[in-house]
Amino acid sequence: MPLGEFDVIRRFFRTPALEAAGDEGRVTLGIGDDAALLSPDPEKQWVISTDSLIQGVHFPDQYLPADIAYRALAVAVSDLAAMGARPIAFTLALTLPTVDEDWLEEFAAGLTEAARDHRISLIGGDTTRGPLNIGVSVFGEVNGFKVVRRRDAQPGDLLCVGGSLGDAGAGLALVQGQAVPATLDEQSQAYLLQRFWRPLAQCELGLELAGVASAGLDISDGLLADAGHLARASQVALHINSAQLPCSAALMHWPAAQRREWMLGAGDDYRLLFTLPVASERCLSVWATQGFEVSVIGEVVAGEGVWLDDGDGPKVVTDVGGYQHFKDASND
Ligand code: ADP
Ligand code: MG
Repeated sequence: MPLGEFDVIRRFFRTPALEAAGDEGRVTLGIGDDAALLSPDPEKQWVISTDSLIQGVHFPDQYLPADIAYRALAVAVSDLAAMGARPIAFTLALTLPTVDEDWLEEFAAGLTEAARDHRISLIGGDTTRGPLNIGVSVFGEVNGFKVVRRRDAQPGDLLCVGGSLGDAGAGLALVQGQAVPATLDEQSQAYLLQRFWRPLAQCELGLELAGVASAGLDISDGLLADAGHLARASQVALHINSAQLPCSAALMHWPAAQRREWMLGAGDDYRLLFTLPVASERCLSVWATQGFEVSVIGEVVAGEGVWLDDGDGPKVVTDVGGYQHFKDASND
């Protein structure tokens, strides 16, 4: 007998590990009723975001169910991190072509790992039949008005990023079976694949940034593309110094031109990109002692657009790249 919708929910998703992965206190009613109940703290604001993952668009056809589950949740939580929010709860809208128990077992295991790593509880969802689609809505909270938005970067602020760039671009190249450098060792390979399949949303860094950073977002489309979003929202120009882009040891196996292309243009890194008022510059050394790998990669100046300095002065970037749905030839 194939499992029905309710068997699937009960067996794979209504589990203590998923329902209690987050901190206690906010979820007053989880999975099982017509809707969940969350109790707000009057001092705080809810932060809410939704992401959908579609096979072939957001992840390659060759995947492990545990990996896409992890990735779906991490990517959604990254939007909470970008706002400086603490993750609380999430819902899962899952559309499946068939009920494959082994697939679901692995999917639920990856989801559970991601829920634990990001301390976020599953409180509900929807299970339907159709082409594979994973929809995740996340709920978090920020303290009062300490939130990181995209729009308040000021000329003079430092432009910072929360860790190495380009790793997910290299990871995707590995997934796609592209030729790899002969020197690439197994450990570096595993690291890059992990960075692509299992990005860890930078929630702890986001909490540090709330009330400190003047603006910020998470890098999902690529550094230049997302810097473009930040520059536009804040109505400023961002100058990026290419020599300061943080590069992992694993990425160093590729030639400089390839590294540069991925660090500037590849998506999926989910590092926080933010602007820091010079008055808060001392935070940089505090974060370093706390283990955050924050790099200053440029500065905010009056003007507009994204500018790249390769050592011979900043030049405006005309094509920031980045993926846009619907923006193919037939739609132009
Ligand atoms: P309804 O038909 O009233 O919309 P459902 O039958 O879809 O409710 O869901 C029953 C319960 O199971 C609800 O609490 C819902 O949130 C939860 N649920 C459904 N699918 C999932 C899922 N994939 N993960 C977690 N909870 C789910
Ligand atoms: Mg109902």
